[in-house]
Amino acid sequence: MIKVAKFGGTSLSDDKQLIKVRDIIKNDDTIKYIVASAPGATNEINNKITDLLYLCYSSKKNNIYKEIFYEISERFKKIVEKLDLSIDLESELKNIFIDLENGCDEDYFVSRGEYLNSKLLAEFIGFDFVDAKDIICFNDDGFLNVEKTNEEISKILKDRENVVIPGFYGAYKDGRIKTFSRGGSDITGSLISRAVNADIYENWTDVSGLLMADPRIIKNPKKIDVMTYRELRELAYMGATVLHDEAVFPVREAKIPINIRNTNQPEGCGTLILENVQDEEKNRIITGISGKKNYTVFCINKSNMASQVGIIKNALDVFCKRKIAVEHIPTGVDSFSIIVSNNAVQKDIDKISKELKSNCNADSINIYSDIALISSVGRNIRNKSSIFKRLFSALERENIDVKIIAQGLSEINLIIGVDNKNFEDTIKAIYDEFVE
Ligand code: ASP
Repeated sequence: MIKVAKFGGTSLSDDKQLIKVRDIIKNDDTIKYIVASAPGATNEINNKITDLLYLCYSSKKNNIYKEIFYEISERFKKIVEKLDLSIDLESELKNIFIDLENGCDEDYFVSRGEYLNSKLLAEFIGFDFVDAKDIICFNDDGFLNVEKTNEEISKILKDRENVVIPGFYGAYKDGRIKTFSRGGSDITGSLISRAVNADIYENWTDVSGLLMADPRIIKNPKKIDVMTYRELRELAYMGATVLHDEAVFPVREAKIPINIRNTNQPEGCGTLILENVQDEEKNRIITGISGKKNYTVFCINKSNMASQVGIIKNALDVFCKRKIAVEHIPTGVDSFSIIVSNNAVQKDIDKISKELKSNCNADSINIYSDIALISSVGRNIRNKSSIFKRLFSALERENIDVKIIAQGLSEINLIIGVDNKNFEDTIKAIYDEFVE
């Protein structure tokens, strides 16, 4: 059994958290590879080291960068002192500071949080340190070189175990550091898992797994014990955030399960994410509910629209030329709707409406702004016609007016659009109907 365990920023934020991580590893000798984030916020300190590194870099023109660098250094020094580590942190920090003063790249500078924290962790738990710059490879265009990365990880980690690798960054061919987008250590963990053929990718964080709904809206929502990658993608797209979006693909391809776990409650089994779930619990229709506010819906009405060739393309051209991403296109017989974010169309809304009318030769255009989309996701939604009845009865009881309905082709999600002001009540009504 081979496990890759990625520990996020809150799991490695100070000496106390590093001790918890050490205990987790001590109790599980199948964890062979660890991916570490930079220290995140602690109970006492609200700052993430990566945020401070970005701030320090962008403050280079004024003197406060020295104060910020001091604050960063103190965080690391405290860990070294408390855990009695022998790493020569002074020289590491001095070199990074000299690089900063000599005009190093931002990506290099902000990656130092992961680099230093991984060195500290490796010494503390007695693992080897392998630098991500040697195994995560980027092309000159800034995109990950997937094949080369896979090859390098396999080559360098072959016959090696008990290794800590910094997350979040890799390097171009010429050795310059390149970071992923924020939260990118999840991607590093996923890439390592695939290349070493792990049996499971554990992603350790500060929550006990994915919740069925946002706890700011639903009090004590139930945890999702097991779900599919597709369900995760749908929920994440509509706002549920635990894993970086791009972290799913490498492990999914290799059919490696992801297990989200809580460093502060290691006895819990967290959420397990798999390609397929064999359902004993067939009556659990909904796996999770997520949603986002602030959409605009353009409803294009045209009699007998379904038989007009190219009408949807003509409408999409209006958005395409403005580089506006379209979220959904629910269609009917005499109308179809195009759903986009409020922000993207606010300035040009009248022009867009006129262009849609003329491009599509439409009978009329209706526009609804400030719409919230709520996605109910579940692998068992498919083939359940009664779900519509139950959903709409529940919303009717709460006097919630449904503006649009869309079902993704994947048939594992049902999206409804309501006024922004009804967002929270809609989620509560769906949760009460299907979960409680
Ligand atoms: N430290 C980086 C961030 O805060 C990357 C990560 O933690 O995944 O975005």
